Amino acid sequence: MSRSGRCECGGVAFELGGELRPVVNCHCHRCRRITGHYMAATSVDVEQLRFDSDTTLQWYEASTGVFYGFCQTCGSSLFWKNDDEPHRVSVCAGTVEAPTGLTTSTALFMSEHADYHTPAPNLTEHLRD
Ligand SMILES: [Zn+2]
Ligand SMILES: [Zn+2]
Repeated sequence: MSRSGRCECGGVAFELGGELRPVVNCHCHRCRRITGHYMAATSVDVEQLRFDSDTTLQWYEASTGVFYGFCQTCGSSLFWKNDDEPHRVSVCAGTVEAPTGLTTSTALFMSEHADYHTPAPNLTEHLRD
């Protein structure tokens, strides 16, 4: 099953193949600032991410080997990747066209979650393998 996604302006448009990981919410301070709230992302094998357009895709290295992908025209948060796991890429779930078929499984860095936010109660704090 293939799903499509894009940024708001369409400068970045992509297809996702294969199995999508359940959505992980990351409440760390970096994701909070970069997304404006928290990161909610699925992930795929890098070979399963195919670009129809990546003309406005920009990667920001937030710390050594940790990259956030965003659209340099409209500012949409799109991707996250980590050199420790080079075969995977996280994809911001809100950029995937509905119906995504996704559910949310996990919340990370709950200790850093924004004080205005009431997190969902029934999410585990660790990634399931
Ligand atoms: Zn855009
Ligand atoms: Zn994070």
